[in-house]
Amino acid sequence: DSSSAPAKSEVQGEKKPAEEDDKDDKAAQSLLNKLIRSNLVSNTNQVEVLQKDPNSPLYSVKSFEELRLKPQLLNGVYGMGFNRPSKIQETALPMMLAEPPQNLIAQSQSGTGKTAAFVLAMLSHVEPNNKYPQCLCVSPTYELALQTGKVIEQMGKQYEEVKLVYAIRGNKLPRGTKLHEQIVIGTPGTMLDWCSKFKFIDPKKIKVFVLDEADVMIATQGHQDQSIRIQRMLPDNCQMLLFSATFEETVWNFAQRIVPEPNIIKLKREEETLDTIKQYYVLCNSREEKFQALCNIYGAITIAQAMVFCHTRKTAGWLAGELSREGHQVALLSGEMQVEQRAAVIDRFRNGKEKVLVTTNVCARGIDVEQVSVVINFDLPVDRDGNPDNETYLHRIGRTGRFGKRGLAINMVDSKSSMNILNRIQEHFSKNIEKLDTDDLDEIE
Ligand code: ADP
Repeated sequence: DSSSAPAKSEVQGEKKPAEEDDKDDKAAQSLLNKLIRSNLVSNTNQVEVLQKDPNSPLYSVKSFEELRLKPQLLNGVYGMGFNRPSKIQETALPMMLAEPPQNLIAQSQSGTGKTAAFVLAMLSHVEPNNKYPQCLCVSPTYELALQTGKVIEQMGKQYEEVKLVYAIRGNKLPRGTKLHEQIVIGTPGTMLDWCSKFKFIDPKKIKVFVLDEADVMIATQGHQDQSIRIQRMLPDNCQMLLFSATFEETVWNFAQRIVPEPNIIKLKREEETLDTIKQYYVLCNSREEKFQALCNIYGAITIAQAMVFCHTRKTAGWLAGELSREGHQVALLSGEMQVEQRAAVIDRFRNGKEKVLVTTNVCARGIDVEQVSVVINFDLPVDRDGNPDNETYLHRIGRTGRFGKRGLAINMVDSKSSMNILNRIQEHFSKNIEKLDTDDLDEIE
């Protein structure tokens, strides 16, 4: 490159700012979870409900029949293999389907049935004979919009009159187009253009507005403003629904600008605990020694499936290579892979095709592989500043109370500083991490 752009901006341009990373990360994680999830995440906590009008009765349903859905939709729901409403759906569905429509802000971790709930609400409110957009749904990315679109198509399979269109960049329509589809799903920028600049959609005719993944949404510059501008064009009687997996102050502030007079439903995440985990550490001097220790552990105990976490892609790649040379069936999960490829690797591992999954910290954040009983921290989890990442440590090896299968965690320590990290993790959780001698492994089983 012979151009003489200012050196400083070039240097800055090399590295993505932290927030950019964070945003990609959040959207990718969310997509990954959707791609690998085939079931509801179970949760034994109670939902918290805050009603707009605390005096009105609170309905909750235990069956889909009680909702008096159109037969096509009831069939659609059963066709997807749902037998009864999920925890959050028990209260969210009657609220969303009430007459007059109620506004809702709902928060629960991914996999608890939010998408299925608002898809059912949109499909129920559509008037199929009216051939114009009546429901808008905004998602943070193109890929996430497509995933929601798939759910609409599945659930509405027997409701053929209802059509769906994607308001996403790349879907270019001729000027003057008037949409005939009743449901429009897309990203905020394109959705806003379609409502205002191009007028493909008449916002005054919208009955339901859904904003999905609010926490991922606000991580992207501009999405917040675009969403609010869309919301401002909608009629007063339009039902506003907002969903989020987490609920920090910033998400909450945004939610209140999108949803006036909301009912609020929250479902706390199932607590993770280290109580049912045996934690050990192994002292080594180099990564070769760590690898040897790992081999010794494998030789000594029967390990059905293990996940091994490394700090960098390079270490993960090296370790996966060494392990396969030793004859292990290894799967490697790495940051340069597309989300779809990552999902495929996790799926194979889940189905037992490989026994060891080697991955980097970043890549595997937020993934649950429940049947894994052995977790090996080849490198300890640290945050950007090199401090112990306790949350990741807990999430990686912790078990939820209800599925408290016993687990084993082995931490590899190879320096003073990693010993220091280990000690701080130990202190944080007030749980002893025992030293393991890999030349004498009788104690472990
Ligand atoms: P979220 O939007 O909270 O991430 P989803 O609506 O995508 O959750 O649901 C997670 C998974 O559970 C999906 O595979 C979905 O098909 C399934 N699911 C949703 N609702 C039910 C239900 N009532 N019964 C059984 N499975 C369900």
